[in-house]
Amino acid sequence: MLKTKAYGAVNKNSVLTSMEIERRTPHSDDVQIQIIYCGVCHSDLHTARNEWKTTQYPCVPGHEIVGRVTSIGDKVQRFKLGDLVGVGCMVDSCGTCSSCADGVEQYCENGFTGTYNGPVFGGKNTYGGYSQSIVVKESFVLHIKHNEEQLANVAPLLCAGITLYSPLRHWNAGVNKQVGIVGLGGLGHMGVKLARAMDSHVVLFTTSPSKIEDGKKLGAHEVCVSTDANQMQNYLNQFDLIINTVSVPHDLNAYLQLLKRDGSMVLVGAPEEPHPSPEVFNLIFKRRQLAGSLIGGIAETQEMLDFCADNNIVSDIQIIPMDYINTAYERILKSDVKYRFVIDMNTI
Ligand code: NAP
Ligand code: ZN
Repeated sequence: MLKTKAYGAVNKNSVLTSMEIERRTPHSDDVQIQIIYCGVCHSDLHTARNEWKTTQYPCVPGHEIVGRVTSIGDKVQRFKLGDLVGVGCMVDSCGTCSSCADGVEQYCENGFTGTYNGPVFGGKNTYGGYSQSIVVKESFVLHIKHNEEQLANVAPLLCAGITLYSPLRHWNAGVNKQVGIVGLGGLGHMGVKLARAMDSHVVLFTTSPSKIEDGKKLGAHEVCVSTDANQMQNYLNQFDLIINTVSVPHDLNAYLQLLKRDGSMVLVGAPEEPHPSPEVFNLIFKRRQLAGSLIGGIAETQEMLDFCADNNIVSDIQIIPMDYINTAYERILKSDVKYRFVIDMNTI
């Protein structure tokens, strides 16, 4: 076992504090990584505070991990010492079910192993990226092609990036498609950049008038302040695809009405409490679809990282020291971050 410094919560009411955790001695197919940066996802906060009622403690969050390979097992073939690598939301899956066979390990029938908080359906706890190092099976480690100077800005691609890339691809965002992104936070700002890079017509929906200019700079063709009913009226029946990243329950009808016939709204935001049930007539009269999507598979995550490197896409971030994390969580709750906090792991 390898001892490593980490930051975590010991119960749902605790702030995150310094602690020591153990990593396994690398197996023959393992890669050991010195973590250089770790992004702060809203899911970290939901989990640390047990908002989804599945948290095992101690809880060391962090699933937007970038770092450098410091050791490899003797069967590792795709990585060498010194490589810049990433780890996202999963570190293992059963490898035998139909979802794993299809390369969508996030839908593993037996429950993938989360980078933190263990297998989704219970089991031994795992510890995430708010720590100095991690040991991960080679097949769940990603190559990073971006320049080293961009490393901190790459970290959020490992969750925020893939969580938007996957539904944009699955629902065929692209030329001549009208795509709405709801919420300009960590996920939403990646959605705007990615949908734009895929040549969709992109409309950002935000509750924050202060984000209008940013939304346009990030790539939105248009920005609609969603709390203004008059502005919302301008967008009725227009969208092929809306991706909703909002982290709190809200009225979905306002957005369903913006879909054209056969349009889809995909929920990726995962609030603590359910949304009010949508009006069924908003779905049946135009054969609209309401769907959900969970991160993305490993192969697709690599595809997304390469797409971002080729299109010079990174996340807009604010780098923070480790001991700022509790303040960062409070600021995330107020949507006061442009647009992702990333922890400098040298400061742990
Ligand atoms: P975030 O940075 O906090 O962004 C959430 C955005 O939602 C905010 O920036 C804000 O955008 C909007 N919002 C917040 N409070 C609101 C309110 N009271 N009313 C209306 N809008 C509000 O969070 P994130 O890291 O992007 O994560 C978003 C959600 O996705 C979280 O629930 C997270 O757990 C979930 N998630 C899901 C997956 C998946 O695989 N499906 C993966 C990662 C994260 P505006 O200011 O622009 O309105
Ligand atoms: Zn996340």
